[in-house]
Amino acid sequence: MALLCREGAERAEQRAFLEEHLLTWVPDFCADLQRCAGTGFYRCVAQLTLGWLKLEEGLLQAEENAPSPFSCRVSTPALDRILEALGKEYRIYAPKRFPGRGARAGSDLVRYAPIRSAAEIVTDAPSDFSAKEIFYPVNQTMLYFQDDACRESVLSDQREILIFARPCDINAVRRLDQIFLGNGGEQDVYYRRLREKVRFLLLECGGGWDTCFCVSMGSNRTEDYSLALRLEEGGALVQVKDPAFAPYFEGADACAYTPGFVEENRRAARLPVIPDRETLKTASGLDFWKQYDERCIGCGGCNTVCPTCSCFDTVDVIYNETSRDGERRRVWSSCMLRDFTATAGGHRARSTPGANMRFKVLHKVYDYKARFGGEEHMCVGCGRCDRRCPKDISFYDAVCGFTQALEQEAEHK
Ligand code: SF4
Ligand code: SF4
Repeated sequence: MALLCREGAERAEQRAFLEEHLLTWVPDFCADLQRCAGTGFYRCVAQLTLGWLKLEEGLLQAEENAPSPFSCRVSTPALDRILEALGKEYRIYAPKRFPGRGARAGSDLVRYAPIRSAAEIVTDAPSDFSAKEIFYPVNQTMLYFQDDACRESVLSDQREILIFARPCDINAVRRLDQIFLGNGGEQDVYYRRLREKVRFLLLECGGGWDTCFCVSMGSNRTEDYSLALRLEEGGALVQVKDPAFAPYFEGADACAYTPGFVEENRRAARLPVIPDRETLKTASGLDFWKQYDERCIGCGGCNTVCPTCSCFDTVDVIYNETSRDGERRRVWSSCMLRDFTATAGGHRARSTPGANMRFKVLHKVYDYKARFGGEEHMCVGCGRCDRRCPKDISFYDAVCGFTQALEQEAEHK
């Protein structure tokens, strides 16, 4: 069952496996075990196993009986009324425009921020920053300390969170979930307490932008959403998948809408094939990386906008120099910063921008998949890093150029 869940098997397949295999013999076996076992331990194991089977059966049954998704058309005023009603229960975020605040002179900034009306949702431009800062803030207090005592931080706002996001960004959150919640047996409580409040409202992506390569990264489609919306002139087409939102759309005109997904980008990334440690060693030693020693200034901007970058630093902030009161914060960090790998004594595991670029590229298109298995790389191909870099360094070009350099090296061997 765990394997079926992990590999994203349909509910019907899971139910078939449960009914046609497990339920045909495990309950009888557990009953025998409870009757015959000489120790309490095995009787308890049998009881737990029976309880688990009942739970699985009940959950799958409940999902089967859940109302099916429906679609409808709403006008902009109606959508605004729905947003107003949702806003009483949820915090609602979407890509929003901040005129004149962009990185380049005179440009606008598009970033995730609270919204109250449909007109605030930006659909004609990509967002400069990702949605991750909503549930993984740039700067987050973990605990407070006072002399020898310490107190955990608590969330000041307990409301659930709704985020309007495109497929690549929803898929990016799954990567972050893997890193914070499924990496090494311990879950990150600071991430989890915000993340478990989040539900996604899928913003249908009309065709992407010049810098997108989500199709190459397999992140152009998603089923992980409560509502899907196509915002149009005068209103929106909406698919309501999560029954919790059905009451908000009662009385709306039914229609046959299902969200479409981008099937082709203007760019198609060529990804490296690294089947063994020898190839990995070759990849790490390529001269290709040296060009970034001159070009990259190590500002970390590319990591800051990336929806899947997760590195942070922890800092203790002492409130004033005569007391021992303060707080511990975690703050986003970046593998592209010069001192990211600095340790006591002045040693740095990676000491050049080229080495940092090598690390980042391999992390995004090799390490993650090698560590967690499956088909997904860490990068979702959103193209934000390319748009952000003040030195016009393209991550996409780095990946494709690296792939080519690796292939050429293999040919010469
Ligand atoms: S590495 Fe660049 S293209 Fe890939 S997910 Fe991060 S910001 Fe997007
Ligand atoms: S690649 Fe560009 S954005 Fe990233 S650290 Fe280097 S200069 Fe900054």
